[in-house]
Amino acid sequence: MAREIQRAAVIGSGVMGSGIAAHLANIGIPTLLLDIVPNELTKAEKEKGLSLSNRVVRNRLADAAVAKLFKQKPAPLTKKKNASFITTGNLEDDLEKLAEVDWIIEVIVENLEIKKQLFEKVDVYRKEGTIVSSNTSGISIEAMAEGRSADFKAHFLGTHFFNPPRYLKLLEIIPTKETKPEVVAYMKQFGENVLGKGVVEAKDTPNFIANRIGTYGLLVTVGELLKSGYSVGEIDSVTGTLIGRAKSATFRTLDVVGLDTFIHVANNVYENVDGEEKDRFHVPHFMKEMLEKGWLGSKTGQGFYKKE
Ligand code: NAD
Repeated sequence: MAREIQRAAVIGSGVMGSGIAAHLANIGIPTLLLDIVPNELTKAEKEKGLSLSNRVVRNRLADAAVAKLFKQKPAPLTKKKNASFITTGNLEDDLEKLAEVDWIIEVIVENLEIKKQLFEKVDVYRKEGTIVSSNTSGISIEAMAEGRSADFKAHFLGTHFFNPPRYLKLLEIIPTKETKPEVVAYMKQFGENVLGKGVVEAKDTPNFIANRIGTYGLLVTVGELLKSGYSVGEIDSVTGTLIGRAKSATFRTLDVVGLDTFIHVANNVYENVDGEEKDRFHVPHFMKEMLEKGWLGSKTGQGFYKKE
């Protein structure tokens, strides 16, 4: 039987996961959006005497992600009613539903061990032949599949979307040596014809192609700011609209991506390259201080720019 993705599951309802779920919903693909159980009750939930085991509480995090889709600018959903293609749930109650989908995309925190723990569960609950992919920004795809079943490995690859997923055209497809050629060919045509992306097949090297170049470019620009004393706004105009690029130039891009994610991504190449190349991926100390203060960018309201 010819392969067809009719239903999908997105695991992780943060910046990228909610955006990818919205992109799928815009195309009309029913999508299950799962996240972890929230670990704190809200004030209202405490007042009502609810506990963390309450199902309503457990689904709050994922529901909140869908609600956020309506507030974001630019909007992830083309029409409000497209949200009806998204069903939310959580990883404690809804893992069995993974057997109902044809493609599972992992979009959780950029951490190899946490992703591996998730894939161990996914390997148990997915049905044979289901495509599983990771949206990692640059962690080794092969390392994530370590310890998994042969069927999982044959159907596992990287599908790297860019932020925001509705608008950015690029989709990197990253197979491993064990990914079945049929799966790679299918995902390439699905990426082009159904998701409407420009697909590039990348090698499973640290940060693949776009983030290897992008991380280097951003760090060079951030470094130049430090040395030369130019302001964030000046550098952004010179690296953005004034040279014909999008408004989100250097520092706006960092705020949109999230400083936590960017630093993980930069450290990933830093730790996986040798010699002189390491220096190119060194994150300046002041960015680590911003991270410690919780200045993560748009998602916390303060990054290089402060939300008005
Ligand atoms: P985020 O911090 O906005 O969201 C991460 C989500 O994962 C959160 O909702 C969190 O609750 C959930 N999560 C954390 N631990 C979990 C676990 N153990 N099980 C299930 N869910 C868990 O992060 P993001 O920016 O959406 O990034 C997600 C992935 O996409 C990362 O691998 C990142 O490198 C990649 N990515 C990010 C961007 C970007 O611009 N932010 C672009 C491309 C790729």
